[in-house]
Amino acid sequence: MRSLAPVKYYTATSLEDACQVLNQAAGKGKVLAGGSDLVDWLRKRYMPTPEVLVDIKKLGLDTIETKEDGVHIGATAKLSDLGKAGIPMLAEAARNGPSPQLQNQATVGGNM
Ligand SMILES: Cc1cc2nc3c(=O)[nH]c(=O)nc-3n(C[C@H](O)[C@H](O)[C@H](O)COP(=O)(O)OP(=O)(O)OC[C@H]3O[C@@H](n4cnc5c(N)ncnc54)[C@H](O)[C@@H]3O)c2cc1C
Repeated sequence: MRSLAPVKYYTATSLEDACQVLNQAAGKGKVLAGGSDLVDWLRKRYMPTPEVLVDIKKLGLDTIETKEDGVHIGATAKLSDLGKAGIPMLAEAARNGPSPQLQNQATVGGNM
């Protein structure tokens, strides 16, 4: 398997921070969530290597909450988290998706 070309990796500390770094990269930055698709695409050279990968996993966007107006699913909630949210339809959707290993890595935002 080919390795990744050198790329700057940045761990965002807040949403504003992530947006600022992506804005500075002017279209040449990429959001990195679980990396299950993105890292594979970069290894296989399906896309140009971005100037910077902005990791958004530490922003606390992994919550799933049921509110009056519906279910709010955070961008970095993992597919496996859908199974733990106590909502049968979401649990079934997660179970019918990829393997357990991938469910523990892939995020809902990345999937969308
Ligand atoms: C072996 C294998 C099997 C798979 N099987 C299935 C399957 O059965 N069903 C299925 O649905 N998918 C499947 N996938 C696809 C993949 O796992 C999902 O699409 C996954 O949810 C991507 O999420 P991620 O967090 O890993 O995204 P990443 O790989 O980190 O990112 C994917 C893309 O989304 C962008 N992105 C990520 N998060 C955000 C965000 N919050 N805002 C804006 N852009 C964002 C990234 O920049 C990138 O372009 C499979 C993949 C593999 C490798």
